Amino acid sequence: MTLPKTVEEASVVEHVWLSNQVRKLVLYAPQIAKEAVSGQFVHLRVADQIDPLLRRPISLSSADAIDGKISLIYRVVGHGTERLSRLSFGEIVDCLGPLGQGFALDAVRPLLIGGGMGIAPLVFLAECLRPAPIEILLGGRTKEELFWTEIFKDNCEQLHITTDDGTLGTKGVTLDILPELLQHGKFDRIYVCGPRPMMEGAAKIAKEFGITCQVSLEAHMACGVGACLSCTCAGKNGKRHKICSDGPVFWAEEVF
Ligand SMILES: Cc1cc2nc3c(=O)[nH]c(=O)nc-3n(C[C@H](O)[C@H](O)[C@H](O)COP(=O)(O)OP(=O)(O)OC[C@H]3O[C@@H](n4cnc5c(N)ncnc54)[C@H](O)[C@@H]3O)c2cc1C
Repeated sequence: MTLPKTVEEASVVEHVWLSNQVRKLVLYAPQIAKEAVSGQFVHLRVADQIDPLLRRPISLSSADAIDGKISLIYRVVGHGTERLSRLSFGEIVDCLGPLGQGFALDAVRPLLIGGGMGIAPLVFLAECLRPAPIEILLGGRTKEELFWTEIFKDNCEQLHITTDDGTLGTKGVTLDILPELLQHGKFDRIYVCGPRPMMEGAAKIAKEFGITCQVSLEAHMACGVGACLSCTCAGKNGKRHKICSDGPVFWAEEVF
């Protein structure tokens, strides 16, 4: 089990909009940057006083031990992320992490599958898996949601895209084209992060093809360090897992 290493007073180095709801936040947090592995997250305190009371978990989208920076890509959805989105250059954010268990990095021919904000941790994963030849399958509702293509373009061999409305790539969802991609038989690992039905569906297809699969789960969480039990999920054989500290990354067969 990975224990929380640091509460760091991280300063804002860059804060830019990637779409009308999604921002990229770069923080100077040298201790976290040094220890982080892909798949882990930070737990941010975004309150001036006590509102909101709880920290907010955001995945690491990169961490550079040399320049001491971490980056986070987040969607503004409610009170906490709205407060986060107001931070400007030089301001300080209280950052607990790196937390949780990361991805296994032993894949030889990985396929990364992401949907929605689940794509954010895959950015760091793709960086860490290099120089392995990586293919990425991204799904979104529309072309506007897939600004990610620009972010991934230098870190993968091939990018496959689906959109619900057909404005970019294949019309449909990721699971529609996954069997066809796997038929070539070249992948030895699938990593999936996105909406739960997508992860469950991808895990099922991976199993049919005999390919190992890791998924990254999300849950509302309070402490982030395995103490409060608010984020537990059911595993196999009646076992319960704490998503914050046993995960968020799991082998698919542990949780589905
Ligand atoms: C391990 C982990 C990593 C995450 N990484 C990212 C990331 O990289 N980028 C990103 O944009 N988001 C990420 N999230 C989700 C993010 O934590 C929530 O969107 C955020 O906490 C919402 O806070 P809020 O105060 O703005 O919204 P709230 O006012 O608390 O909620 C607004 C809406 O968001 C939903 N929501 C809140 N928390 C979660 C959650 N944990 N999971 C799913 N839905 C939620 C609520 O149900 C509600 O509909 C991650 C969550 C976890 C558990």
